Amino acid sequence: MAEVPTFDPPPSAVAAAEAALPRGLCAECFGRLFGRLGHGLTNPERAERLAERLGRPRPALGGPCSVCGGLFERAPVWTERIVRAADGFEWHRFTCGSRWDPELLAREEALGIEIGTEWAESARSAFNRELGKLVEARTGASGGTDRPDLVFLADLPVGRVEVTVLPLYVRGRYRKLDRTLPQTRWPCRRCRGRGCTACGGTGKTYPTSVEELLGAPFVTATGAEGTRFHGMGREDIDARMLGDGRPFVLELLRPRRRSVDVAALGASVAGSSGGRVEALALVAADAAEVVRVKEAAPEKSYRVGVLGEAPVAKVNEALELAAGRAIAQRTPARVAHRRSDRVRTRRIVAARLVDATAGRFTLDLRTEAGTYVKEWVEGDGGRTDPSLAQLLGTPLKVEYLDVLEIHDTEVR
Ligand SMILES: [Zn+2]
Ligand SMILES: [Zn+2]
Repeated sequence: MAEVPTFDPPPSAVAAAEAALPRGLCAECFGRLFGRLGHGLTNPERAERLAERLGRPRPALGGPCSVCGGLFERAPVWTERIVRAADGFEWHRFTCGSRWDPELLAREEALGIEIGTEWAESARSAFNRELGKLVEARTGASGGTDRPDLVFLADLPVGRVEVTVLPLYVRGRYRKLDRTLPQTRWPCRRCRGRGCTACGGTGKTYPTSVEELLGAPFVTATGAEGTRFHGMGREDIDARMLGDGRPFVLELLRPRRRSVDVAALGASVAGSSGGRVEALALVAADAAEVVRVKEAAPEKSYRVGVLGEAPVAKVNEALELAAGRAIAQRTPARVAHRRSDRVRTRRIVAARLVDATAGRFTLDLRTEAGTYVKEWVEGDGGRTDPSLAQLLGTPLKVEYLDVLEIHDTEVR
C-alpha cells in the first residue's frame, strides 16, 4: 500500500477551515481553499483531514455547492462532450481549458480572502487539470501544452465544448520544372477570389500553383480543409527551381487524419502534378519550422540566359568587376505595387560566363538573399546601380532564369 501523505496544516489554516465550514462548499471546493498544503493529497482528502482535525462532519463530495454549483461532480459529463466534439478527428495530444462566469471566479476569490487562506488554488485551473485527467483516461490521448493536436475549451455558462484543430506541418524541398507556375495560390486581382469574368469564375489569376500541386495529395490523405504554404523565399513565376529544390513548410488546416506517410505522399507529387513539381526530403514538422523557413536568408545560385550584343572578353571583364561587389537596388518597378519603395544594398557573390553565341550568352551567378537578378542584368531603368547592362554599355534582356541552388544548408 502507498504511504499515507502527512498533513500538518498550520494553526492559521485550521482557523480558516473552521471559518469555511459553514459556507456550504463541496469537498472539492473546500479542500481547494487549501490546495497548496499537503503534497500528494486530493482536494476531497484535504477537506476530510481538516474536518477530522476540527472534529466536524466532512463536507459532502458532491451536491449543491456555493462556489462551483456541483461542477466538479459533472466533470465526466464534460469529458463526454469533449469526446463528441472531437468526433471525426484523429488526435493524440490535447489541451483543456474552460470559460467561466467571471462572477463565480470573483466570488471564489472573495471567499478565500474572507476566511483568510493563503493556500487556495483557483477553480479554473483545478477543473482544467481534473478534466484533462479524465479525458486522458477516457481516450488514451495525452494532455498538456506540448504540441497539441486539439485544444478544447469547455464553455461552462453555455454548456458547450469548442474545439480548435491545430494544423499538421510538413516540411521539405520542392523543385519546380514549369515556367508558368506561381509558388502560392494567386487570387484574381479584380474579384479578389470570388470569381468573375476576367478569371473565368475560378477566382484565380493562375489556374494552379506549387502550393496547390504539392498540397493536393496531402489534402486528400489528411482530409484537411485547406493549406498554407511557406517557402524560403520564392522564385518568379517564369523561373524554374532546380537543384536540390527550395525549402518549404506546408501547413494542412483542420486535418481529420494525422498518421499519414509523408514521404510516400511527397514522392507522389511528381506524378500527380504531371511532372511540373517535385517534392523532396519530406518530414513531419511543427510551427517553429515556419519561422525558421521565413527568417532564413541564404545565398542563391542562378543560371541566366541573356539576350544582348557583347564581346566575350568584355563580358568576362564586367563579371570580374561585379563579383564580390555591392550593388544598390531600388525596389523594382514590377514589384513596387506590393513592396515598399526603398534602396537595398546587395552583393553579387560570384559570376561566371557559361557560354556565348551571337546575340546571347549564359551566366551562372551566386548572390546574396534578396538580390533582384533580372534587374541586376537589365538595370531596371537605372534603379539597380551598377547593373551588368551599365557595365557593358549595351542594353540587355533576360531570356530565362533558373534557380540552381538555395544555399541554406551551408549557413546552418
Ligand atoms: Zn464545489
Ligand atoms: Zn476574378
